[in-house]
Amino acid sequence: MSTPPSGFPTGISISQQDFVNWDWTIQVKSLWTCVPKTAEDVAAVCNWAAANGYTVRPAGIKHNWSPLAVVEGTSPSAKILIVDMTKNLTAVESVTAATGGAPAQVKVQTGCTMDNLMLALQNAPGGTGTIGYSFPHIPAPGHITVGGVLAIDAHGTAIPSPLEDLPTGYGSMSNRILAFTAVVSNAQGQYELQTFTRGQADGNDTLFLTHLGRAFLTDVTLAVVPNFYLRCQSDMSISWKKLFAAPSTPGEVPRHSMLDYLNQTGRVEAIWYPFSEYPWLKVWSYSPTQPQGSKAVTSAYNYPFSDSYPDWITPLFKCILGVPLDAAVDGAVVTDGLRKWLLSLGSSVDLRSEKGISWLRWIAEGWQILEDLIQAFKTGLGPQLTPLMGQLMQLISQIGLLVDDATDLWGPSADTMIYIKDTTLRVTANGYAISMKKENVQQAISVFANTFTSLLEKYQNQNQFPINSPLEIRITGLDDPAAIGVTGAKSPAISALNYDKEAIANGWDCALWLDVLDLPGTEHANNFYVDLEQALLSNQWFTGANGRVRPEWSKGWAYTVADGAWTDEQVIQRFQSTFSGWDDEVSGLSSFDAKNIFSNTFLASLMKPPVS
Ligand SMILES: Cc1cc2nc3c(=O)[nH]c(=O)nc-3n(C[C@H](O)[C@H](O)[C@H](O)COP(=O)(O)OP(=O)(O)OC[C@H]3O[C@@H](n4cnc5c(N)ncnc54)[C@H](O)[C@@H]3O)c2cc1C
Repeated sequence: MSTPPSGFPTGISISQQDFVNWDWTIQVKSLWTCVPKTAEDVAAVCNWAAANGYTVRPAGIKHNWSPLAVVEGTSPSAKILIVDMTKNLTAVESVTAATGGAPAQVKVQTGCTMDNLMLALQNAPGGTGTIGYSFPHIPAPGHITVGGVLAIDAHGTAIPSPLEDLPTGYGSMSNRILAFTAVVSNAQGQYELQTFTRGQADGNDTLFLTHLGRAFLTDVTLAVVPNFYLRCQSDMSISWKKLFAAPSTPGEVPRHSMLDYLNQTGRVEAIWYPFSEYPWLKVWSYSPTQPQGSKAVTSAYNYPFSDSYPDWITPLFKCILGVPLDAAVDGAVVTDGLRKWLLSLGSSVDLRSEKGISWLRWIAEGWQILEDLIQAFKTGLGPQLTPLMGQLMQLISQIGLLVDDATDLWGPSADTMIYIKDTTLRVTANGYAISMKKENVQQAISVFANTFTSLLEKYQNQNQFPINSPLEIRITGLDDPAAIGVTGAKSPAISALNYDKEAIANGWDCALWLDVLDLPGTEHANNFYVDLEQALLSNQWFTGANGRVRPEWSKGWAYTVADGAWTDEQVIQRFQSTFSGWDDEVSGLSSFDAKNIFSNTFLASLMKPPVS
């Protein structure tokens, strides 16, 4: 074991550890990583770093895609200090009921995971009956930290609806901040803990609400709402052509379209495998009592099939990534696996029941896919199996929902809102949030879906299959500061949901979140992502008075063919220009970091202070 760097504060554990992000596209060996026990320890290591020429990277679970924490290609000997918040700074310190004008709130240390926070809120006295408190919507994975979530204006999917209109905002988690403690530099250039309050007179709190890792928060106080029960119904029987159909006349809401469901319940999500017909539609509805036919759940992660896919699929993944395979051996693994799986399903359900009918249909489709796969393995291996793969993944989801009895769930909100486990497929993702009017959501989805399929087709015609994982669609409210009920509060300045004069002037009341996932290393993916991004940025439904595209900071954006995400300077500048407070944000955060320690090479370029 290496000797700790000279003069490192005694009593704070430090060792060299590998940094690896979610999709393994950032892997840096042996970075000095310390584990503070207290917030004061965090300030101490920051002072040590500043004095010794190190930069400091706050670390949560490291389940991010973009290089906000550490940049790929960083040398292991780089003077970077990773500060692991997940071991000790994890306490949910207090949950307080609403008093006077103040909303109910939770004070939590930033290394706490969303899993643990939601559990603590649910078990807290006050709020709703025995289920305490919650947030209007939250990210789908629970194994991410509060610090990571707030750095990037995290979100789930929800807007107000006739079923519910919680007396709070439906924007990002960043807009729920009421107060926080951050490590900042003082007039002498020393780093110390400072507490900020939302809406404080100097406005400095706003700088830290979404900061991309350009600051260091040790605890936060967030506005919560009395918990509520949600029903989550999954449907995989509506063709994408219907779900994503364009309105035939302005203002029309096609039946069984995304907007139709959004109007009814305010909570929708679609996950759509490329080359498949039936997206996985989830519709959550506010349901104080258990609806007949639903299954009551008492914990999160209720889609086990999507947490771990069968082993026999692995050769297929390799195949579409262009890894050389043995057609006979690997083909047999896949086709035998699929055959056995289909055969095993017959006994899982009463075939005379209503469920049994869908069951039989899907099993029949499974046999067809099996036949096609057997043929495909005979005629050639490679990315051209992607369309079959998409259909197979659709089928696994359709059948998985039935096997897991997960089509109709009901429970405390977080138990249906959290569903992505670490064991799920480690895919890469691009991500955008487009501010718009709710009434235009269906039109925008339809334009995007058609662009997506046209591009898939264009590449397919060249025998290229750059995308092999789903498109995800969600909708949230914007970060309206008025909704938080704090005098003087401003909208998080660089949140993708930032609510500014342009949003108000155009009547934008929601954001459409679009993510296209992909296996890391898929050939031609950058070309596809460039094409898609350019199409998005030039389409009338996403520009001008209709909409404004902003990046989902944690994911991929600003693509070039040669270098991938985060490298197109023009697009980066365009995104920056969508935030009227960008320059103030950058110079403001810089003024709280005298020695420029909360940075890395990527952030130094993205958040370069303006020349004054
Ligand atoms: C499979 C998957 C699904 C996802 N789904 C969603 C979703 O539904 N909605 C959504 O909004 N996002 C989603 N995300 C993105 C996720 O919310 C972010 O990547 C989040 O930052 C991850 O938290 P983390 O603890 O892993 O952060 P890390 O990756 O450890 O850190 C991310 C950034 O936050 C900074 N940071 C961490 N802690 C602190 C702190 N205490 N103070 C200051 N900065 C800090 C880091 O320096 C880094 O810059 C998903 C990610 C994955 C991998």
